[in-house]
Amino acid sequence: MTEQPNDPFDYAGVEARAEVLSRWQVSPSRQAPTGAEGPCPRCGHPMKAPITTQITISETELAAPAEPPDPARTLTVYFVCACGEAHAGRKEADTGGCGAFWLADLVKRDDGFYILTPTADRSFAQAAIDLHAAAKTQNANVQKSAEKWLGGIAALFGLFSLAGIFSSGSAVAALDNAGKWAAGVVAALAVLTAGFAVVLGYLAAYGWPITSEVANNLQLKAWKDKRDEYAPKAGKRLRSAVKSAAASLSFIVATVGIIWFGPRATSTPTLELTTKDGGSACGSLVSWSPDGRIQLKNGEGDVFTIRACTVAKVTITESCDDVKA
Ligand SMILES: [Zn+2]
Ligand SMILES: [Zn+2]
Repeated sequence: MTEQPNDPFDYAGVEARAEVLSRWQVSPSRQAPTGAEGPCPRCGHPMKAPITTQITISETELAAPAEPPDPARTLTVYFVCACGEAHAGRKEADTGGCGAFWLADLVKRDDGFYILTPTADRSFAQAAIDLHAAAKTQNANVQKSAEKWLGGIAALFGLFSLAGIFSSGSAVAALDNAGKWAAGVVAALAVLTAGFAVVLGYLAAYGWPITSEVANNLQLKAWKDKRDEYAPKAGKRLRSAVKSAAASLSFIVATVGIIWFGPRATSTPTLELTTKDGGSACGSLVSWSPDGRIQLKNGEGDVFTIRACTVAKVTITESCDDVKA
């Protein structure tokens, strides 16, 4: 362009005029563009810039932004000069460029081609700048979030050992059926609320990575709005997580209470009778009436009667299965 020395490096917003933007090439030009190439409006050096039309980061809500009914054809894009030429005064941290930054509109023409034009509406500037910054860190962001969530998954599996404490042991076995059911339901609630506490806590701390389309300014605005909602949302989730943890603790205490003090199963003796003629009968004792009738209940629940005067021997046994074996 010129033979004069390059301008010194300077962070400065510059105007991107139509005649400069008309020399920019968007690629690919007929699908959602991923980059653009052209001269910097300030230093005039050729440069390339990425264009983001889809973003995955964690600081967003679970729900995808609503698709606008009439998708706008414009996306405001924030560019930073990334020329490879030397500019005096550039710091180490700046990998290239002259320090210029500007906005331009990525527009889909009626023939389907994408072009860059001067920004018509500057109200999307902040969203475009936020998107530019988020696109640079999205990989690190999602990776960090995923690493943290691995801990959350381990914590959820850890809850199974909590459930194991309740389901084992002779104290549970001694409960009657209603007691076992009550202990089981309350223990399940304890595990469930503990699970909620873990998931909500992790959501509050690390968010949930979701991918949003940001191919036009309506989607860009929806993305930014969701992102700005993150802080109040996280606070709400954290409060819910603490409440769930407290509820879980109460359920654990209740489960232990039921196991310790719940109704015990009443045990009826199981008798094995040997009759004088060499036969045998086994079952749990239902009644032994004064007129000498013994009523037993067998494994199928059938009650049968044996006259006491025919019995030669009575043995108390653990179960009738042991007798048969
Ligand atoms: Zn330059
Ligand atoms: Zn430049």
